[in-house]
Amino acid sequence: MATPSNLYPQKVDLTNCDKEPIHKLNRVQLFGFILVVDIKNFTISQYSTNISDFISFDKTYLNEDVSAIIGEKLSNLIMEGLNNNDLGPYEYVSEKGEHFLINPNVSNEHLILEFEPIKESIDAIAQQQQLTQIITKLDNAKDEMEMCDMTAQMVKDFLGYDRVMIYQFDENWNGQVVSEAREPHLESWLGLHYPATDIPQQARKLFMSQGVRLISEVTREAATFEPELSPLSNDILDMSKSELRAPSLIHVEYLENMKVKGTLTAAIVYNNTLWGLIACHHYSPKILSYHKRLSVKFLTQVFSTQLGLRSFNSSLKKVNESSIIRSKLVKQMSINWNIVEGLSGYDTNLIGLTEAKGAAIIMDGETTLIGQTPSVIQIENLKQWLLSEISENDIFYTNKLSSMYAEGFEYKEVASGVLALLLNKGTNALFWFKPEQLQVVDWGGNPNKPAEIGSEARLSPRKSFEKWSENVEGESLPWLDYEISAAKALKDSISEIIIQKYDEVMRLNQKLEKAYKELESFSYSVSHDLRAPLRGIDGFAQIIKEDYYDSLDDFGKSALETIITSTEKMNVLIDDILNFSGLHQKELRAGEIDVNLMINEIMKLNRVATFYPDTKIIIQDNLPSIYGDRSMIAQLFSNLINNALKYSSEKQHPVIEIGSHNNQAPVVYYITDNGIGIDMKFKDAIFGVFNRLVDESYAGSGIGLAIVKRVVEKHKGNIWVDSEIGVGTTFNFCLNINDSVINE
Ligand code: ADP
Repeated sequence: MATPSNLYPQKVDLTNCDKEPIHKLNRVQLFGFILVVDIKNFTISQYSTNISDFISFDKTYLNEDVSAIIGEKLSNLIMEGLNNNDLGPYEYVSEKGEHFLINPNVSNEHLILEFEPIKESIDAIAQQQQLTQIITKLDNAKDEMEMCDMTAQMVKDFLGYDRVMIYQFDENWNGQVVSEAREPHLESWLGLHYPATDIPQQARKLFMSQGVRLISEVTREAATFEPELSPLSNDILDMSKSELRAPSLIHVEYLENMKVKGTLTAAIVYNNTLWGLIACHHYSPKILSYHKRLSVKFLTQVFSTQLGLRSFNSSLKKVNESSIIRSKLVKQMSINWNIVEGLSGYDTNLIGLTEAKGAAIIMDGETTLIGQTPSVIQIENLKQWLLSEISENDIFYTNKLSSMYAEGFEYKEVASGVLALLLNKGTNALFWFKPEQLQVVDWGGNPNKPAEIGSEARLSPRKSFEKWSENVEGESLPWLDYEISAAKALKDSISEIIIQKYDEVMRLNQKLEKAYKELESFSYSVSHDLRAPLRGIDGFAQIIKEDYYDSLDDFGKSALETIITSTEKMNVLIDDILNFSGLHQKELRAGEIDVNLMINEIMKLNRVATFYPDTKIIIQDNLPSIYGDRSMIAQLFSNLINNALKYSSEKQHPVIEIGSHNNQAPVVYYITDNGIGIDMKFKDAIFGVFNRLVDESYAGSGIGLAIVKRVVEKHKGNIWVDSEIGVGTTFNFCLNINDSVINE
């Protein structure tokens, strides 16, 4: 069978004091009494043992109808209230003519009737006026802090407690006295912190549900119930909703250690969580009438609503400011489609989005730092650690980095707080840093010794409430909800920009490709069309040369020669342009090519021996064969060999060499000369169309190397040049196609 002693944990210590069943202790405060009624038939099932201090009552009333005590009329009224879910309070006048307030509440199958003597007459109008004044004052407070201060003072004036504190919880349920109004002779507890164990979880839960809790006298004495266990449930009565519930002995001891004799506590609930408490202490017992308690409940509600409204407004303001900054950043990023520049290159930068003091952007392997940050290497290491801690595209934040990441200790001064966003599977990342906020936390007593085990192997609360200071290291200000949301929203904007940027590049690429094709077919047709009139000019010039040459004077003769050489030059140019632009459309017709054979043919075709009799030409035997398009490869060799011959022709002993490095795959072929050389700063430019580094003394159109490059690209290969002015030039190339590529 359940008894108070076997329901109470065997031993209450810091690990289980959260489990102390403080709502089931069978203890009733002495400023009132209780009648427990069977909800089904309205008979009395239990009574508190102090009942005779207030009314004439004896055991025989047990199991009698409650109307035997409170009268038929009141009994019917309560029954009606129960059915309509509108329970009291009710006024009851005893046989002796004393007035009581009945405050009923339901606990499972029990109706608990709590009786409190009415001692003072209530001046409802005066009380209402007082409350209205309080609300108006609260409305005018300039900020949360002033509101708390005002509330503490007003509650003190209104209720007359020795000390009134506004006590605020942090995220770990440690509390801090943020406002205080007290009698002048009392020492101040303002700013003191109290560990979470001082107000254990089940006490907080009861505060939440009950709103206002009065302990009229801090004493070990309390009434209990007769019978001890409820005959209806065969268990201890659950007094969660009872105002007369007496505190647990641990709590009594805690208050005794503070020398407090009477308390009132009101829960400040905001956003469905317990924001804090209005805690009133009195150094002598103090009973507060039900109506005053109700007023405090109302006042606390007004306070909570105001608090909610104010913090909502201030966070709304911050959200608005940060969203303006975000749109600015998005605009900046869109100017050149450059994320890093957009986030760091203007007056408004990444930092402004939050209250951080530093930020970093890791984008495409580059790290950009803004403000106070760890070093690039430290940030890179941090990113690697984060990758193992959080999923690739997630958000991470802490205001105590070094407590979870040891290396963070090295730079705790600048980055105890870190908010990080990983983008693109962690290749890119954004960081915000908040510096360490060194602070001294004053505890109301040593928080590491919040309780001791007393002589009866029971928890006894700590005895000393002497101020105990602690230095807090490695912590920054916390990240606020709006900062985290702002970071998340920025992440979405960046993803959008990356997609837009990609689309834009794709669009430009397509446009460029189209323009390029159009240009090529344009130059092809123009070159083609130029051929006919050129042929005409050349034909007529030849006729004049054959039939009328002798009749021309010297100027005429030289003019005619100029016409003929110009048309030849023009013809070469047209050939080259046609070749170059035709290459694009041309399909690859690949096969195995004997390179030695091909080079010999080129030499013959270009009558190299005739035009360059002084040039020594070395061709490596057994050059490896090439797989490629015969006509294109021929053009490639021909252009490179002709250039080598041409640009070394002025040397006293011109030498050109054609060979290969076949110890690697793909094979690299080279054509070397000891000619005029090329300034290496033009190593890429020479492959562009019409780019020439020489004057008219060297014939040429400036298209040869562009054709060579295009042939190499068509064969998925590479070409590069090594050269030194006045010493010579080597062109190297390799091709990289085979059957499978051709048939793709
Ligand atoms: P070009 O018809 O002028 O020879 P190319 O496109 O073949 O046009 O070459 C571009 C430019 O590169 C040439 O004008 C020349 O300045 C330089 N060049 C090419 N090959 C050599 C080489 N073997 N030695 C020195 N300069 C060269």
